[in-house]
Amino acid sequence: MDKVDVCVIGAGPAGVVAALRAAELGAKTALITSEAFGGMAANDGPVPVRTLAHAARLLRDARQLGRYGIAVSEPVLEFPRLLERVREVVDQVRRHSSFRGLMDSVGVHIHEQAGAARFTDATTIGTQSGLRLQSDKFIICTGGMSRRLSVPGFELTATHSDAWSLTSVPPSILVIGAGATGAQVASIFNAFGSRIQLFQAGPRILPTEDEDVSAAVAAAFRAAGITVHENFGEIESFEKTPAGVRMNFLKNGARGSSEASLVVVAIGWVSNAAGLDLAAAGVETDSRGFVRVDSYLKTSSPHIFAAGDVTGGLMLVPQAIQSAFVAATNSVRGASIKLENQVSPIGSFTDPEYAQVGLTEVQARKAHDVVTAIVHFDSTTRTIIDGRTTGFCKLIADRSTYKILGCHVVGERAVEITQVAAIAIASGMRVNDLAKVPLSFPTYAGILGRVAAKATHQLNLKVDWVVNEF
Ligand SMILES: Cc1cc2nc3c(=O)[nH]c(=O)nc-3n(C[C@H](O)[C@H](O)[C@H](O)COP(=O)(O)OP(=O)(O)OC[C@H]3O[C@@H](n4cnc5c(N)ncnc54)[C@H](O)[C@@H]3O)c2cc1C
Repeated sequence: MDKVDVCVIGAGPAGVVAALRAAELGAKTALITSEAFGGMAANDGPVPVRTLAHAARLLRDARQLGRYGIAVSEPVLEFPRLLERVREVVDQVRRHSSFRGLMDSVGVHIHEQAGAARFTDATTIGTQSGLRLQSDKFIICTGGMSRRLSVPGFELTATHSDAWSLTSVPPSILVIGAGATGAQVASIFNAFGSRIQLFQAGPRILPTEDEDVSAAVAAAFRAAGITVHENFGEIESFEKTPAGVRMNFLKNGARGSSEASLVVVAIGWVSNAAGLDLAAAGVETDSRGFVRVDSYLKTSSPHIFAAGDVTGGLMLVPQAIQSAFVAATNSVRGASIKLENQVSPIGSFTDPEYAQVGLTEVQARKAHDVVTAIVHFDSTTRTIIDGRTTGFCKLIADRSTYKILGCHVVGERAVEITQVAAIAIASGMRVNDLAKVPLSFPTYAGILGRVAAKATHQLNLKVDWVVNEF
C-alpha cells in the first residue's frame, strides 16, 4: 500500500488548492476524487449555470435589437445545441485550468474517477476502484449536495443537475426553493420559454438577501411572467400525472396542488460526507452532517482537516479556495494560520442579477446608527443607454465613522458592481471618500459614486468635488 504525507479527498476548488499548497510546502501529496477533476465548480455549478444564464441574456438582448434599429427575426433556441455549448465550455474551462499543470509540476499524485473514498481507519483510505492509501494527514474536501425531502414521491423530482441533461425545454416547471440555485433555474428556464412557478416556503424569495433586493427581484420575476408563490405551505407529496408531476401541499390546514411537466427541487445544500465513514477516523459532524472544524480547520481528529462546502461555511468557490489554503498550510506546518472573516461579495446570475456585500440593512441597524442611500438604475446614464433600467444600488454606511457597511444591487452587472464595493469595504473606505473617486463615465460601476455622494449629502458632510453626480 502506498503511503503519503498528505492525502486530499475531493478535487473541487477546495481539494485542488489544498493539494497544491501541501505539495508546494514539500509534503508528498495525493489527491483522490470520486469523479472528474474540478468538482462542482467546473462540472455542475457556476460554469454550466453561467453558460445557460449567458444564453438567456443573449435571447433577451436579441429581442431588444429592434429598439436600436437592427431588424432580425424572433430568436429561436435550439436547446440540444446549447447543451453542446455548455459541454464545450466545461471542457474548455477544465483544459485551461492552470491548476492541473501546476499540480503536475509540484508532483501531486492525482487519482481521478477513483469512485467514492472512505476511511477504513484513522490513517487509511480506500476507494470503490480498489485504491488503498495510507497517510499521516488528511484534508476532507468532498463538498456538498442537494438536500432531499423525505416525502412520498420525492424520487419523481429533479435537481438543478438534471437540467443539464434534458433533451428539450420542458413546457412547464415547478421550482421548489427560491434561494440562489432555485432563482437561477427559474430565471433561466423562464427565458427559454418554460412556464415557471417558483415556490418559497418562507415569506420572501432570496431570504438571505437584503429585503429590498428580495422584493425587487420578486417584482421583476413576476413582470417577466414567473408565478412567485411565497409562504406557500408545506409539501405533503409528489405524484406522477399523465403530463408530468403534481406537488401536493398543505397551507393553513387547506390542501393545495400544482402540476408541471418537471419539478426541480432546490431547497438547500447539505454535506457530502456521509459516505466517508468518518466515525472510523474519529471525525465528528454537526447536526446537519457538516464536518466540525476549528478556526485552523482541524477536525475532532487532530491529523484530519477539512475545507470547502463540506464544512458548511459560505458555500462559494472563493471561500472554498481560501479555506483550503488555510487547511493545507496547517496540515503541513502545524496550526499556524486561522481562517479569517473576510469581506465576501455574493451574487447570482438571474435576470435581473442581484448581489450583496457586507451587512443587510436589517443586520446593520441592529449594531449601528446607519445612513442608507439608494440610486435607481433608471436615473443613470449607462443603464439608459443600454436599455437596462430595472434595478437599484443601495449603500449602507455608519453615521459616526462614515465607514461603508453594506452594498446591495439589483440589475444589470450587479455582481460586477458589488466587487468594487467589496474592495471599498475591505479597505475600510469611508463613504465620503468613495464619493470623491472619479469613476469612469458612463459605466455600471459609476452608480457607486452616485450612491456614495447621496449618502455623503445625507450625512451633511461637505463634498468638495463630485464628478459622479453627473
Ligand atoms: C447550481 C450552482 C451554482 C453555483 N454557482 C456559484 C457561483 O456562481 N459562484 C460561486 O462561487 N459558487 C457557486 N456555487 C457553489 C460552488 O460550486 C461550491 O461552493 C464549490 O464548488 C465548493 O467547492 P468544494 O471543493 O468544497 O466542493 P465541490 O466542488 O463540490 O467538490 C467536491 C469534490 O469531492 C469529490 N467527492 C465527493 N465525495 C467523495 C468521496 N466520497 N470520495 C472521493 N471524492 C469525493 C467530488 O467528486 C468533487 O470532486 C454554485 C453551486 C451550485 C450547485
